[in-house]
Amino acid sequence: MRVAVLSDIHANLVALDAVLATLGSVDAVWHLGDVVGYGPDPDGVVARLTELGAVGVRGNHDAAAAGGDEIDWFNPDARAAMEWTRGRISAPTRAWLADQPPRHRVAEYSLVHGSERDPVWEYVTSVPVARANLAVLKTRFGLHGHTHLPMAWAERDGRVEAIAPGPNSTFQLNVDRALLNPGSVGQPRDGDPRAAWLLLDLERETASFRRVEYDVASTQEEIRERELPDALAQRLAHGV
Ligand code: ZN
Repeated sequence: MRVAVLSDIHANLVALDAVLATLGSVDAVWHLGDVVGYGPDPDGVVARLTELGAVGVRGNHDAAAAGGDEIDWFNPDARAAMEWTRGRISAPTRAWLADQPPRHRVAEYSLVHGSERDPVWEYVTSVPVARANLAVLKTRFGLHGHTHLPMAWAERDGRVEAIAPGPNSTFQLNVDRALLNPGSVGQPRDGDPRAAWLLLDLERETASFRRVEYDVASTQEEIRERELPDALAQRLAHGV
């Protein structure tokens, strides 16, 4: 079974469609939340995920868009974009976002947006935080997003190693346990503006970290047309 894992799409339909164009044949699409927020096309992205039958979890931006008080924790640009998103999304989009659970489990994979301990908010950015979350993981593998940085945290014989995967690199998951972060489709922050996603082969136990170029200028134009904060357009060119 081949699975595409998509995280932090952030209403960037142009980036999502570029990823979908290179997917090849996959048996399932899993998403790790922050489907909306920051970007210009929340309804389009939710419609696309619905068409694909994607299953996944709620991010902090999705919870805020559905009306949650998560918005109180946002920085000014994120908040401005979220207020726009709340006013813009259709009733079916709002219902779909409200319906996403904080956790989802498929076979040996636990899906969350933030972390196993705090599925909506915690950022896994260090070995101690990864170790604490591996310790409470109920499956062999955990999938999370939220940091917008592609990463693998691998546990072997009680040791936890942080691995920053190179673009288009494949790992054999011959580890005791691992946390995998695909990076962000719609707002990468690792200095590489290309859309990031993860291809899992569940039988071969491989994880392939992929990058795909997309038309950044087109998303920037839409952000400006909708009068969202200009910094949200600028950062896409630099992947920050
Ligand atoms: Zn995000």
